[in-house]
Amino acid sequence: MSFKSIAKEVNDSGATLVAVSKTKPNEQILDIYNQGQRIFGENRVQELVEKYNTLPKDIEWHMIGHLQSNKVKYMAHFVNLIHSVDNFKLLKEVNKQAAKNERIINCLLQFKIAKEETKTGFDLKDAKEMLDSELFSTLKNIKICGIMGMATFTDKQDQVRSEFQKLKNIFDQLQASYFKNQDSFSEISMGMSGDFQLAIEEGSTMVRIGSLIFGNRNY
Ligand SMILES: *Cc1c(COP(=O)(O)O)cnc(C)c1O
Repeated sequence: MSFKSIAKEVNDSGATLVAVSKTKPNEQILDIYNQGQRIFGENRVQELVEKYNTLPKDIEWHMIGHLQSNKVKYMAHFVNLIHSVDNFKLLKEVNKQAAKNERIINCLLQFKIAKEETKTGFDLKDAKEMLDSELFSTLKNIKICGIMGMATFTDKQDQVRSEFQKLKNIFDQLQASYFKNQDSFSEISMGMSGDFQLAIEEGSTMVRIGSLIFGNRNY
């Protein structure tokens, strides 16, 4: 698929396309930028910062990968959305660094929906505990814009579909219980190169597509 046709398909669905540029050189990113893409996602802080420093300043940078609390400070002045907030301690640190920079940082709560042990994230109980806590209500420099999840890496479409349904269900529950009057709680970040069409069918509002746009990665 060409970039244009991927972008059109995502756009027509009403979802937002995050072009996942991890491991890819600036030259390739600029090629996609010149075709109109402005939202790019990275999974390592150092690489994200390097690219932010050297690429056009109207790019919106999304952090999509597992994030250690001690690295938040390096990107707090510019990151547009962190998809991968997977624990309370990290959220507190994001709030602290956002405050230092006099910003509000947009965050998604990452949920564990896959069977694989390697995928991190909240479960519904932990998330509710956090959202119910008094400490959470004091965090003024973060905005929870929705949730994110990654399906199991498998060919079994039924399994992937049911994991996406599980994430949508979590979103609906949280929206009803905690974010009723907050229009900004609106994003369900799910779907990657291999499963983005399925994700969109199941209610994704934001797809994170790397290899389909940039080609396979060599680590
Ligand atoms: C790498 C990555 C993607 C994109 O994966 P592709 O299969 O290349 O589209 C999406 N989300 C996260 C969290 C990633 O780390």
